[in-house]
Amino acid sequence: MSDESMTLLLGQPEGASYREDTASLYGRTIAALFAEKVREDGLDGQRGVVVDDEVLPYDTNAAEVPRQVGATYAALWTKAKAHAARVAAGATKKRFTGLDKPPMYGQPTLTYNEGRDYGFKRDGRVSVMTLNGRAVMAYSGYDTHTALIRDGARIGAAKLWYDKPKKRYYLLVSLAVEVPDSTLTSLTGVAGVDVGQRYLAVTSDTTGKAAVHSGKEPRQKANHLARVRKRLQRKGTRGARRRLVAIGQRERRQQAATNHTIARRIVDANPAALIGIEDLTHVRERTDPRTRGKRATKKQRTANRVASRWSFAEMQAMLAYKATLAGGQVIWVDAHYTSQACPRCGHTSRDNRPNKGLLFMCQACHYTLHADLIGAKNIALRTLLIRQDWVGTGGLSVRPDASDDEAKAARLSRYAELRWSPEASPAL
Ligand SMILES: [Zn+2]
Repeated sequence: MSDESMTLLLGQPEGASYREDTASLYGRTIAALFAEKVREDGLDGQRGVVVDDEVLPYDTNAAEVPRQVGATYAALWTKAKAHAARVAAGATKKRFTGLDKPPMYGQPTLTYNEGRDYGFKRDGRVSVMTLNGRAVMAYSGYDTHTALIRDGARIGAAKLWYDKPKKRYYLLVSLAVEVPDSTLTSLTGVAGVDVGQRYLAVTSDTTGKAAVHSGKEPRQKANHLARVRKRLQRKGTRGARRRLVAIGQRERRQQAATNHTIARRIVDANPAALIGIEDLTHVRERTDPRTRGKRATKKQRTANRVASRWSFAEMQAMLAYKATLAGGQVIWVDAHYTSQACPRCGHTSRDNRPNKGLLFMCQACHYTLHADLIGAKNIALRTLLIRQDWVGTGGLSVRPDASDDEAKAARLSRYAELRWSPEASPAL
């Protein structure tokens, strides 16, 4: 997970769902949050978990504040240590700025621990701690989720969230859902997903069937908001700062909604598939210095801004848990050279994309394809390779080991051997 996405997500309901989903993914359990499902299905608050009580104040549980702040600092400290290690390894020269200023909580949220601060009653009501003691009240929610609660699903912590425009309190409850492990026989397809600037996502399966998710409109909106934000930052008044917070939250919601939609479409198009995505850890630091700063063209600067602000890590995390719930499996593959390698002959060069144009044109074998499809195709090939390793070793490598340089070099040389041909795309 990149630093940026963590900072942006702090103290917001989207952040809560994202972090918990990601954290529990490794144990093959999924924390599904009500609000997430509601947003994804485009339902309004009527079917969200509505706590029908307007008197609950934000600071209902003052003891929670030091705990939450402590957790924030612990996370920042972990990041600072990881950053120091990267500096020592020569991976970056930037200094860590996360601890320069005290963390800001963009939105007042409150965490409840199950059993202690809140709990579900047998009579279909929920009991919540407030400054005035326990409040027991009715709730409503997405049918599938309320059924899970009734059937005694494992319930985790909850967040209280106030929707200002709708003047409603929501309780965001995390549920742990047990999902059977995916096996070689349960996964019936292989696909690769590339994320990028022109298209937010491009997918390709091993038969060459491709799909693009342009995200043009959301990116235009993000551009607009970025311009407004810049103007407000220059202004620097109290009112401007307040609007900046609101715009930041709107940006975050729009982006999360787009990421949800795209991830959902990809999973629907590739059910029960082994889906490869790029391991984007540290990718940001590889950005070509010539396309940054004053020497960059206006168009490049715009692209840099939009690209750097889009949370691809969030989209990938959503894809990962949605795939798991649909009986699929997401794996991470190395991101190196996915846009430069020729899927037919393996020739890898920047020159394969003449003038950074729309066409990929292999300089060795003259294989030609729309440049935006190359990445997804190469990722699908790498995913197929990992599947073959799975057949051979009996173990699935979910994420490449980036710390072992030797193993990484070995992987990259194996990737260079990959060839796309009708024979290389077996029926699974
Ligand atoms: Zn070639």
